[in-house]
Amino acid sequence: MFDAHAHVYEYSLEELEKIKDIKVICVTEDLESLKKSLELAERFDNLIVFAGIHPWNYKLANEKYLKKFEEFIDKNIDKIFGIGEVGLDRIFVKEIEKQKKIFEFQVKIAKEYNLPLNVHSAGALKDVLKILQKFKIEKVNIHWFSNPNFVKQINELNYFASFNQTLEIKENHKKCLELINENLVLIESDGPYNYKNIYLHTLNIKNTCEIVKKLKEIDENKIANNFKEYLKSR
Ligand SMILES: [Zn+2]
Repeated sequence: MFDAHAHVYEYSLEELEKIKDIKVICVTEDLESLKKSLELAERFDNLIVFAGIHPWNYKLANEKYLKKFEEFIDKNIDKIFGIGEVGLDRIFVKEIEKQKKIFEFQVKIAKEYNLPLNVHSAGALKDVLKILQKFKIEKVNIHWFSNPNFVKQINELNYFASFNQTLEIKENHKKCLELINENLVLIESDGPYNYKNIYLHTLNIKNTCEIVKKLKEIDENKIANNFKEYLKSR
């Protein structure tokens, strides 16, 4: 079983013990969460660490910080398997131009080291795709993909998309799953997070897999293969 997007540094050691059999992509949001995740990955070999500065942290990321971030990745490149959670957000935060600068900086790192991207695109998928295409990026996961207007483009670009337990209540998320190419489907928790009384957590990933199976008629092996394809960039 795989989880394509979780904020693992927020889990307790007890929780981490319980998810040892699940391969988890640990997205990070800044240097601190990246360092913490790398420490955890030394103890738990199911954790696959991605390095990222989240768009919500755009205030933190001045030039000095970005330089430090890039140097840290360079030093630890053997332990970092992708770039994320990065992207743009037009819903929860403002200052889109500043966010774009930080996102582009990280997209360039992904390009340079040939790493897959794990992307946040709340209300900003159009801008996100424009930047990814500008840098001719091939390996991407659009996390919590919920805008059916972009399914055709995502299918054409061969970008992966991850789906979570909110499939139970979110019609747009469900619609995206129904329309997307089955080779591009990943599942995620985005845990730990409480969304409208649904507790998003890696522990519930099996349940998410069951929901996906019902809606899409694809099995666990297919999803596992998609994961391997997504991570197979180097
Ligand atoms: Zn997230």
